[in-house]
Amino acid sequence: NDLTPLTPQALLASVFGFSSFRPGQAEIVEAVLAGRNTLAIMPTGGGKSLCYQLPALCRDGVTLVISPLIALMRDQVRALREAGVEAGALTSGNTDEETEEVFAALDDGRLKILYMAPERLASAGALSLLRRANCTLIAVDEAHCVSQWGHDFRPDYLRIGDLRRALGVPLAAFTATADEETRAEIIARLFPEAPPQVFLRGFDRPNIHLAFAVKDNPRRQILAYAAARKGQSGIVYCATRAKTETLSRALEEAGHLACHYHGGMDPIERRTVERRFQQEDGLIVVATVAFGMGIDKPDIRWVAHADLPKSIEGYYQEIGRAGRDGAAADTLTLYGPDDIRLRRAQVDEGLAPPERKAADHARLNALLGLAEATGCRRQVLLRYFGEDPEPCGNCDMCRLPARLFNATQPVRKALSAILRTGEW
Ligand code: ADP
Ligand code: MG
Ligand code: ZN
Repeated sequence: NDLTPLTPQALLASVFGFSSFRPGQAEIVEAVLAGRNTLAIMPTGGGKSLCYQLPALCRDGVTLVISPLIALMRDQVRALREAGVEAGALTSGNTDEETEEVFAALDDGRLKILYMAPERLASAGALSLLRRANCTLIAVDEAHCVSQWGHDFRPDYLRIGDLRRALGVPLAAFTATADEETRAEIIARLFPEAPPQVFLRGFDRPNIHLAFAVKDNPRRQILAYAAARKGQSGIVYCATRAKTETLSRALEEAGHLACHYHGGMDPIERRTVERRFQQEDGLIVVATVAFGMGIDKPDIRWVAHADLPKSIEGYYQEIGRAGRDGAAADTLTLYGPDDIRLRRAQVDEGLAPPERKAADHARLNALLGLAEATGCRRQVLLRYFGEDPEPCGNCDMCRLPARLFNATQPVRKALSAILRTGEW
């Protein structure tokens, strides 16, 4: 509705239907939104499209997207339109009506995202069209197509650098090809005199130890975990507001410096907690996922989930708050049959359309796959995001002696059965 503020986070949910950013997306979105030249290297499936689509919605004028494959462009335009975004494509595959419709939308300033095939840039009218349309940002997908030595070289991509100069707008380039030479060539051709901010962070956060445990007595488990990390700043995530309050009280009674945080508190109280966490050493914040956006504390030493998060993306984002300074950080995620039931029910009872519910279930299942991993967890996590690393040596499965591992088999089996049958 019109009252929703157009923050990236709000649009992420309302337009794209995602509850959190994928690794790396938030930083890139912020840079593109701010109008900086950017080059983002992200694995396939990492979610590059969102990194230009979302800023396009927040910015004035039209964002031009140059993409090499007509089928993909049409796909994206269809998806965006279904989400209520004014998007259109000018490609050789258009019918005359489709092209007319795009021109009309451009003329009355409705269009937010215009996809164009690179061939189209060669046409005489392209520049004046884009000027007239108030094009304020260029996004180049599959930017490695500009590399003359690559397999996917597209000569028309060579025109993009001139187009950027002529329009005088920022350019955001995206590719999954990370090798040094290709990167240098992309920069030389697309940004010869205005070097971009480069985003080349793999998804791995090797300093974060990953661990899961089946819930047994969750309160005792969290208290024991905190006791082993006394005096270190940490976050405990809970699924409900009530639980943040009871658990934070339990931690205080056990002699910790702890407070709770959730969306039901008034803004002043929330700000106080945020400030204390930032400034004090060794504070534990027991919170719902409302705690996190804008928390920029480098030395959070541990994050525990007292309940299973709702998706693998949410999990990654929440544990990712630990150890931003690169020093060792610990995480523990508790889960049990009740969590799975709760999370499934939350998806089913939501008002989202069926395709989105299916996607939410898939993201929950991916997290359960991680919880039930029988090998290195980091491999499972990073494979989900498109990488394929060696076993990490810094997760509970990598460190677990085989003997202990076998002892947890019956519990795993029981949980697997629940997952498979869906019978609660
Ligand atoms: P890439 O272009 O990097 O290969 P895409 O932009 O095609 O990746 O996105 C890959 C998949 O990830 C898509 O299905 C997309 O809907 C999904 N996706 C992107 N961002 C998110 C997010 N923040 N949360 C959940 N899923 C996401
Ligand atoms: Mg893509
Ligand atoms: Zn591992």
